[in-house]
Formats: sequence, C-alpha cells, structure tokens
Amino acid sequence: MLKSDHQAALLNICLIGIVIWNTFVWNITELTLVIVVILFIRNYALHARNKTFLDQLEIYEESAERILVDEELPYIQPIMSADNELIGVEFNRLMRSLQRQFAANRSNNHIIRSVSRVIGTPMVILNSSGKIDYANDSFKAWHWGRDIRHIANKELRHILQDALLREIPLKQELNIGKDFYVAHSNPIQDDSKKTVGIVILFHDITELKNYQHLQREFFGNASHELKTPISAIKGCAEILLNGEHSLETYTEFLTIIQDENLRLERLVQDLLLINRYEHQQIELRRENLLLNRLLTNAIVKVLNVANLKKQQIHLDAPTHVPFAGDATMLEHCFLNLLTNAVHYSGEGSVIRVKLGEAPDGKIQLEFKDNGVGIPPSDVPHIFERFYRVDKARSRHSGGSGLGLPIVLSIVQAHGGSISVKSTQGIGTTFVIQFEKNL
Ligand code: ADP
Repeated sequence: MLKSDHQAALLNICLIGIVIWNTFVWNITELTLVIVVILFIRNYALHARNKTFLDQLEIYEESAERILVDEELPYIQPIMSADNELIGVEFNRLMRSLQRQFAANRSNNHIIRSVSRVIGTPMVILNSSGKIDYANDSFKAWHWGRDIRHIANKELRHILQDALLREIPLKQELNIGKDFYVAHSNPIQDDSKKTVGIVILFHDITELKNYQHLQREFFGNASHELKTPISAIKGCAEILLNGEHSLETYTEFLTIIQDENLRLERLVQDLLLINRYEHQQIELRRENLLLNRLLTNAIVKVLNVANLKKQQIHLDAPTHVPFAGDATMLEHCFLNLLTNAVHYSGEGSVIRVKLGEAPDGKIQLEFKDNGVGIPPSDVPHIFERFYRVDKARSRHSGGSGLGLPIVLSIVQAHGGSISVKSTQGIGTTFVIQFEKNL
C-alpha cells in the first residue's frame, strides 16, 4: 500500500508538470483539459480508497474498545488493499484471541472471588511490583486500596512486605485486635518459574489460642487446687513423724489428713469427670427413666448433711415423669445442685425442688434455696471451671469449683439448658429445661 501511494504521488507530480508545461510552453488547452480531468478522477478515486481505509480503522478502534466491556465482537468485513492484500483478516483473528484471553481472565477472577468467599478468611494477591491485585472482602475490612505501604497495621504491613521480598512459602502469626491469625504466603510462578505475585491467606486461630489459654489456666488452677491438700497432708505427716505427741494430737492431725485426702479424692474425681465430659469421651447411655425417681435418689443422698444443718428439702413432683437420658450423669447433676443448696444455705433453711412443665411444654426442674445468694457480678462466671465466689467458704465445704461446670456439661449433653436467678441474702434458684423425649 505504501509502495502504491508513492507511485500515485509520482504520477500526480508528472501530470501536474505536463499541465504547467502545456499551459505555459505549448499552449495546448485541449490536452491540458484532458489531463486535468484525469487528475481529478484519479484523486477522487484515491480519496475514496483512503476513506474506506479510515472507516476500517475506526471499526478497528471500536472493536478494541468493545473487547474491554465484554460485548459480542462484530465480524469485520476484510477489504482489499491496492496491493490486493486482504486487510482485516489478521485483525479479526487477533481480536478474537484477545477476547478469549479476557474471558479466561474474567472467569479466573470469578473463581478466585467465589473460592475466597467460601473460605471466608482474609485473602490477598500481590503482584510482583508490590501492589494489591486482588483482595477479598474480609481483607478489605483491614485495608482498602492497592498500595501495601498504606496498611495501617504495622504487623500486617511487614508480613506482606516480607512475603514479597522473600518469595518463598512462609507462615507468620498475626494479631489484629482480639483476633489471632496465621498468614500463609505462597509465591505465584509463571511457566518459566518466575515469581509473578504472592497469594496470602490468613487463617483465624483465635479459638485455638483461646483454647490454649484456657488449657494453661486450667492446668494452673488444677495444680494449685491439688497442691493445697497435698501440702496439708505432707505438713501433718511431718509433724506427727518428728516427735512424741499425745493421743489427742495424733487424732487431730490424722483427722486433718483424712479430710484433706477426701478432698483430694473428690478433686481428682471431678477433674477426671470434667475432662471426660468436656471432651465428650463419655457416651450418653440413654435409657428410659423417671426423673422424679432420680430426684428422690439424689435428695436421699444429701439428707444426712441437710439434717446436720436442720434443713428441710421439699420435693414437688408428679409421680411419673419419663425421660430418655443417662441416669448416672443426671443423678450426679442433681446431686451437685442439691449439695450446693445445702452448703450455701444456713441452718434451718428450706430447699425446694420442683419438677413440672415449662410454659412452652418442656420438662422443667427447679432447685430453690434461701441461702447466701450470689452477687450479680459473679453470676455470669459461676459455670466457669474453678470459679468460686468465696474461695475460703467453698474450700471449707470441700468444694472444688468444678461442680457447676459438670452440671452444665451434663445438661448440655442431654440437649437441655440451665439458668440461674439469685439475690444476695435471699437465695438462689437454678432452672433446668429439657425437651420431652418420651
Ligand atoms: P464449689 O465446689 O465451689 O461449690 P461450684 O462449681 O459447684 O463449685 O459452684 C461455683 C460457685 O458458685 C460456688 O463457689 C459458690 O460461690 C456459687 N454457688 C453455687 N451454688 C450456689 C448456691 N446454691 N447458693 C449460693 N452460691 C452458690
């Protein structure tokens, strides 16, 4: 096409030269006229051809823009150039290949977006120049924008910069507010193994961290609880072994050893139980039982201690309340609540146990005492392991601080719920509800 344009320009110059020569040298007007007409027709034809090319170029431009907004591409009718070349065939092929490429990229983006939404945890993809190429909504909650240098959290910023710099798989811990994460970064490589970006996923390990913290606390508390009776036993034994003592002293110290040993035994039993309940190692042995009968059994077991304090225990229950549950566990649960009611109530008080139906039709059990009550600030914590309102009083009564956590585990294992209402100096009521299952 370029070649033919040069030839056309040369021809034009020659014809114009002949016209000038004719007009001023030979003065042949007819010939001049003919040449002018030829010139006119030729230039008009050239103009028409150029316009066709320009129109074609415009179509190319429009098509290129359409590709970006994912419109259906029109087929461009190829045109013939002056050199008999078909123009537009290659363009059509190139455009369609580009469109396929864009569609593939868009589909990859959709996949990444859907996957990151399913994962839910924060995720970010950085390109090799350190800009954010993609971030899911959870990551955007931390940082919105493409430049990682503007990330406010210093720890997070360092993790991203480190991942970019080192270009190897990395695992780093991160703490944002009350939450803990492990950032897993992995380089993205192209076919020639060149790193073209980094993908970083943040796994939420807050629950695990909290669990570890609880476990540390639990072992700390457990060893402390175990140490107290062990030290008492050790101390008494040492005193008795080092010297002559009267019979009364022997009796006194041996009684302490016996009491502390009992406390130790109870504590170990409770520790084993709570461990098994909380790790669901005990399978519920559901059997058909009568709740009213289980309550009577539990009451009989605490009557001795209640009698010593001249307390009365009233049971208000129908004669037949069937339930499918684990009899041993349920009796243990009722016994813990009754023991507490006896321990935390004064001499001559009355403890009322009621078995009936809740307004919504569930089975409801109430354990009501008029004892010391629980301060409002302690109520939310009483189901926590080793939590005791009055440590001295609880220890004196042989309490381990594990009674209520065990009660809660048993109730929950049976699909039930437990609540507590308490007023200091007036008394406490525990209410358990179970779905009817027989
Ligand atoms: P403990 O072995 O110390 O009794 P629990 O887990 O059974 O442990 O109870 C936790 C704490 O809740 C107790 O130390 C006590 O302060 C309080 N508590 C439980 N039941 C009662 C109750 N009926 N009246 C008053 N306080 C209670």
